[in-house]
Amino acid sequence: MGRVARWSRRLLLALALLVLLLAVWWQWPRDAGPYAELALPAAPQARTAEPAPPPGGRLRLSWWGVSAVLVEDGRNAIFIDPFFTRPEGLLPLLSYRPIAPNRARVQAGLAAAGVDALDLVLVSHAHYDHSMDAGLVAQLSGATLAGDRSTLNVGRGAGLPAAQLRLIEPGDVLQMGDFRLTFVASAHAGATGGRPLGSIDSPLQPPARYSAYKRGQVWSVLIEHPEGRLLHHGSAGYVPGALAPHRADVALLGAALVEDWPRYLAQTAQAVGAHTVLPLHWDDFLRPLDEPLRPMPLAVDLAAMYAHFRSSPAAPALHTLPLGRKVALPAAPPDATPTTRPPP
Ligand SMILES: [Zn+2]
Repeated sequence: MGRVARWSRRLLLALALLVLLLAVWWQWPRDAGPYAELALPAAPQARTAEPAPPPGGRLRLSWWGVSAVLVEDGRNAIFIDPFFTRPEGLLPLLSYRPIAPNRARVQAGLAAAGVDALDLVLVSHAHYDHSMDAGLVAQLSGATLAGDRSTLNVGRGAGLPAAQLRLIEPGDVLQMGDFRLTFVASAHAGATGGRPLGSIDSPLQPPARYSAYKRGQVWSVLIEHPEGRLLHHGSAGYVPGALAPHRADVALLGAALVEDWPRYLAQTAQAVGAHTVLPLHWDDFLRPLDEPLRPMPLAVDLAAMYAHFRSSPAAPALHTLPLGRKVALPAAPPDATPTTRPPP
């Protein structure tokens, strides 16, 4: 009898937790606040054939949800964390329903991005919202897939040949045309260190449970180009001091599971001297890209982000990336000179 009572209590507790989770989930703020007002304007497309580069140069970036960012200069194109499939719904995820790249969505996403050939696909860590589509994107675009062992096993599972796989070790530098990429070992956001933890140790063939996409190594990627320097930081964890030796003008920062904006910025955007922050990974990726974006319930507090940037004169400028639009790198904001600040 005692055993039955214990199990009923556990079941009731589990049900109560699920109901609570769903209640918070549905009640979470659905609008992105002043996101649209802060958005960078779309830039003219960079094309090699043009005799002169368009205003602001040829370097363009575009955001495709979560931390998916396409960086291109008219000659070379690099896609970080491409993720168009976005399997839908919280309950399928919680019930471990197997997931797989959706070829039609990936092809539509690449077409919308105007991509027929990519040079590199990079993966900032191997959780499914960063890595799941990467192998297929590399296959469709002829790109080399670069990442840690876990990411390469996602690539192998997608059928990529060894010639299209490039293993990355901490500190590695890759040169691609005018782009120079430096991989800095980073950490995942969240108290658990980013579950599912561990690494993917054999080719991962989809469909697979989301829990098969184990985290692997987490990277910050510095992207240096003659027209500007970017930091792509897909997950809001950090290794203290790791970015201090590096420099970037613009920091693309994961905004999910940020516990302390001042500390996070000090270790990322401010550590590299960035004048502008562009938030990534704030949208609910359990919804497809053709539905209006909303912040990820439980994990993202955009209001706290806006409040910090508004109230901190020393913080970098905050701009946002409009979904699926190519933008030029924002210029440094006119300096708030010391004379405009009250004397100490
Ligand atoms: Zn993750």
